[in-house]
Amino acid sequence: MVSMKVIEQVSLMQSICNDALRPLVFVPTMGALHEGHASLISHARELAGTSGTVAVSIFLNPKQFNIAKDLEWYPRPFEADKALCQRTGVDLIFHPSVEEMYPCDTSIHVEENQLSQHLCGASRPGHFSGVVTVLTKLFNIVTPDRVLFGEKDWQQLVIARRLVWNLNFPTEVISHPTVREEDGLAMSSRNARLSLQDRSVASKIYEALRKTRTRTLEGESNVSALLESTRGDLESIPNSIIDYIEIVDEQTLQPLKKIIPSTTPARLLVAVKMGETRLIDNIGLTRMFHTDRDEKVAKLK
Ligand code: AMP
Repeated sequence: MVSMKVIEQVSLMQSICNDALRPLVFVPTMGALHEGHASLISHARELAGTSGTVAVSIFLNPKQFNIAKDLEWYPRPFEADKALCQRTGVDLIFHPSVEEMYPCDTSIHVEENQLSQHLCGASRPGHFSGVVTVLTKLFNIVTPDRVLFGEKDWQQLVIARRLVWNLNFPTEVISHPTVREEDGLAMSSRNARLSLQDRSVASKIYEALRKTRTRTLEGESNVSALLESTRGDLESIPNSIIDYIEIVDEQTLQPLKKIIPSTTPARLLVAVKMGETRLIDNIGLTRMFHTDRDEKVAKLK
């Protein structure tokens, strides 16, 4: 495709995607794009090749916000988002209005009733129903061959895989490693909301995760002991309130009691509130890092 198109209507997006050159690789986002998104989109461009199509949706989905103030605050820098998409090689931006996505007679919603019960699902009631509903609609509109999700939102990634599997979408979910700031903080549109003071200590979240990973790789397998030391590390971050800390089977998201690397890949997931900002992060405890980027971050300290 030659120039990037911005499409606001569902029916037009459907017909353009229907005629698009394949493979069509799709990155769903809520906008306020940063280098983490840019990395996902560049990965999508690689997967699509020069002859395929890269589509990005920019849709701030109200149904996945359980706190009105959080939605109100969320930045909407559409011109900057467009420029980022242009530079990363996007062919199609889908940018519908809320009314276009949810007409007034909307009465059908999609629910996930297992993976979304704990972690972020417990702290944010209705969040994952909003996520799977909008993904279902986007998959039907865009009909992607492949769809990319960041490991930063691990629970969302696992739920998206389950959605594709359970509802038989003919698409492949591809995961992308978490992109971090120089000091290790996971990039997020929400980081801009941190006070300078909070931002200066927020990287300690990832430090705590790495410490737990090191303890696990050195042989600690007792999950209670690992959770306790992680809690201590997170509690020592000034102005932070822990929402959750869990060590789970990274595919089923079920809490683990003991780490057994040979049978169950374990992952530590945390959510921490600093002021008004809720930050989430996670780390694999039993697998070796599998990307250059992860290793670069791991060598930072
Ligand atoms: P969002 O706009 O926050 O809904 O994110 C859109 C996609 O980008 C999701 O698949 C996120 O997991 C992914 N993403 C957001 N931040 C990062 C990051 N720092 N590293 C990797 N992927 C990310």
